Amino acid sequence: MEGMATNCLFCKIAAGAIPAKRVFEDEQSLAFADIKPQAPVHLLVIPKEHLQSHAHAITEHTALVGHLMAVAGELARSEGLKNGYRLVVNTGEDGGQTVGHLHVHLLGGRPMGWPPG
Ligand code: AMP
Ligand code: ZN
Repeated sequence: MEGMATNCLFCKIAAGAIPAKRVFEDEQSLAFADIKPQAPVHLLVIPKEHLQSHAHAITEHTALVGHLMAVAGELARSEGLKNGYRLVVNTGEDGGQTVGHLHVHLLGGRPMGWPPG
């Protein structure tokens, strides 16, 4: 697949080679349930195109990054997160990123603490 990185877990999920609980999909993006949920609602929104992290997004990705945030907002609405929610984009080693394909966490359904760990 064009834009797919070999050996990338989320590229494989996007391609359907690894199963996931898919909740939304359009031409540019895919949302699926996190395998180890940290809240009653925990979804991941990814670009179908491989992009290693938020730090790797350049000007040409501006619309794509905005689209991921918009999709996360739509999902928050469709999941009924009326009390609020949290979007998280862990980036790089210090950011706690463990999967090297850009993803937006949508977390909700319980109050969130601050500061984060
Ligand atoms: P991060 O630590 O921000 O890179 O987030 C990676 C997330 O991917 C973690 O919350 C994991 O639980 C999640 N994850 C890892 N493998 C899978 C998988 N096969 N399907 C769904 N979520 C996954
Ligand atoms: Zn990838």
